[in-house]
Amino acid sequence: MENIRKQLCKYGRLVIEKNLAAGPGGNISAREKNFVYLSPSGFALDEIKESQWVKVDLKTGKQYGKLKPTCEISMHLGCYIVRPEINAVIHTHPPYTLGLISAGVGLKPFYPDFVAILGREIPMVEYVIPAGEEIRQAVVEQIKKYNVVLLKNHGAVCVGETLKEAFARAWLVEETAKMQMAGMIAGKIRYLTEKEIEGIENLKAEDYRKALLKTLE
Ligand SMILES: [Zn+2]
Repeated sequence: MENIRKQLCKYGRLVIEKNLAAGPGGNISAREKNFVYLSPSGFALDEIKESQWVKVDLKTGKQYGKLKPTCEISMHLGCYIVRPEINAVIHTHPPYTLGLISAGVGLKPFYPDFVAILGREIPMVEYVIPAGEEIRQAVVEQIKKYNVVLLKNHGAVCVGETLKEAFARAWLVEETAKMQMAGMIAGKIRYLTEKEIEGIENLKAEDYRKALLKTLE
């Protein structure tokens, strides 16, 4: 398995490359056994060195090293506690998504990848104060049931069994916002029906693709 710090550097760079956060915005983490490695506070995600990811003991909360972890640490740790099978959390400030959800427009399935990768629905929570107990509670409550949560006037949180999977979700959320906006400008989007959504959920080919996202390179 590729070194967890190396993987974090790769996906940190990708978050910036795909325009999912700007400046020091957004934060990501990954879990390996009892330890969580988080982006340090105050860094752009594409400028963090392998040694700078902050190691934290998930059970005791003990932090290693001199750097401070992201101010959203309790939200990250909360996700790992309620979802023992996930190993990555990616929090982004994606511009198109953020614009749409802050206008009260949620993301709904209108093409197959949405259902296969993001799920049949994405919850959207009202604005809460960042960096503390309020956002932790709001996010953790949804992450119990969903892999993606949209935060009005803030951004998105995506989880996955691997960084690859969490990142695929984070990227697809923003691409969906662009597609949905294009559709809204062009006319009225035809969203998938309940029957169509079920059809995608039952596709064997989609199971194969989902499995691929759980693999590490
Ligand atoms: Zn944020």
